[in-house]
Amino acid sequence: MKKKHIEIWEKCLEVIKDNIPHQSFKTWFEPIVPVRLENNILTIQVPSQFFYEWLEEHYINLLKKTIKKELGPAGRLEYSIIMEKPTFDNPNPVTINYPTNNSKNIVNKPVTMPLDLNKDKTREIPNPFIIPGLKKLKVESRLVETYSFDNFVEGDCNRLARSAGWAVAENPGKTAFNPMLIYSNVGLGKTHLAHAIGLQVKANFPDKIVLYVQTEQFINQYIESVRNNNQNDFIHFYQMIDVLILDDIQFLAGKEKTQDVFFHIFNHLHQSHKQIILTSDKPPVELKGMEPRLLSRFKWGLAADLQTPDLETRIAILQKKLYTDGIVMPAEVVEYLAYNITTNIREMEGALISILAQASLNKKVITLELAKQMIDKFVKSTAREISIDYIQKVVCDYFDISVEMINSKTRKREIVQARQLAMYFSKKHTKNSLASIGMACGNKDHATVLHACRTVNNLLETDRQFKSHVEEIDKKLKF
Ligand code: ADP
Ligand code: MG
Repeated sequence: MKKKHIEIWEKCLEVIKDNIPHQSFKTWFEPIVPVRLENNILTIQVPSQFFYEWLEEHYINLLKKTIKKELGPAGRLEYSIIMEKPTFDNPNPVTINYPTNNSKNIVNKPVTMPLDLNKDKTREIPNPFIIPGLKKLKVESRLVETYSFDNFVEGDCNRLARSAGWAVAENPGKTAFNPMLIYSNVGLGKTHLAHAIGLQVKANFPDKIVLYVQTEQFINQYIESVRNNNQNDFIHFYQMIDVLILDDIQFLAGKEKTQDVFFHIFNHLHQSHKQIILTSDKPPVELKGMEPRLLSRFKWGLAADLQTPDLETRIAILQKKLYTDGIVMPAEVVEYLAYNITTNIREMEGALISILAQASLNKKVITLELAKQMIDKFVKSTAREISIDYIQKVVCDYFDISVEMINSKTRKREIVQARQLAMYFSKKHTKNSLASIGMACGNKDHATVLHACRTVNNLLETDRQFKSHVEEIDKKLKF
């Protein structure tokens, strides 16, 4: 009878074969050798690190699906990589990885999971974390190189968090910012900043053990350790870290056991002056489903928030990204994106990438027109609305005056009219309150905005010339 792991892998291959081009199958799947099946984990051997990365990048979903299909929801895949050249750092010819990380972004070799610590030392595959002859634990930090301080544009929205993070990196565990909790809505740079701190610690103190882990991973590792009855190894592993970065701790909500175990790890690290960095989508007071004793510890250090960036910062972020990638794009397109996507940097970057992709795919030049179409297609679903900033810009461009003018105290007729139109369009096209429109347009009160809207409506009924101006501006606003 065939060995189980071979049989399972053959079944997987049948499915995979049907789902990818023949050539890809030959190139990427035929060289794979199934090694073993243990505890629902199928280990496959791949010829190189590059091979592994390629599979992770291009076939991870397919692999996941087929493995789950054959082994059930608990089924997992591990790679055993034949290292091209054994080095001093890695004398073992083989290393194990979990596949769920997209390794492309991970510095060095990816993933160090604590769960193997307890495995029998005599097994064919040596423990990948302990280097023979060297007592020190080797932990891959799992930091994304591009999420550096250099690439983290400073603005009013992030100044406090950024400089606190910098201070922590200069002196991990030794400042009052321990733990340092970074919170904000999604897509505003928590993960980026947390990585930046980790990378900077590594630059300042190469010997310090830094570990970035997503809270969901942490939870899964814990569950796994309970299943394998090696919780102590799990705890010990984490207690050895010098700088622990736990991303998105809101996912700990309601996970009492994991909170409990994290509480112990936290205490140990804190007492030994190790640095803890946490991120969350809410301020500590609003975190629900957390044990009070853990919550109170989150408040020991510094909680710093990241706010939505202002227009200048948004433009600077896009420019930085273009510059880093060596791409040139017309300023008006960059401005258009920054004007129109205001609350989520990730979305703004996503739109930028879509435009680039579209342009290069269809060999089109990047124009404002293309950008508008793309935004329509790709960002519409994400609650995009015209912003007051954008309305002001369009109105001012139309009358050839500067935006500063309508925000100034000037009572000059044409300025007043432009200001009133900006208010009118803001009321018409955004969900902002009269008060906030007033604030944004020259710091006026809600009554002024109301008056502006009435004035414009009256003029629309009585003044043909005025009406045609309004219609033209309206056309420019819509896309
Ligand atoms: P969060 O973790 O808050 O959801 P991320 O850290 O994933 O957000 O950030 C989303 C994207 O925005 C990332 O690509 C990140 O590089 C980028 N980003 C966020 N803030 C900045 C900034 N200040 N400068 C440059 N890029 C930023
Ligand atoms: Mg994040």
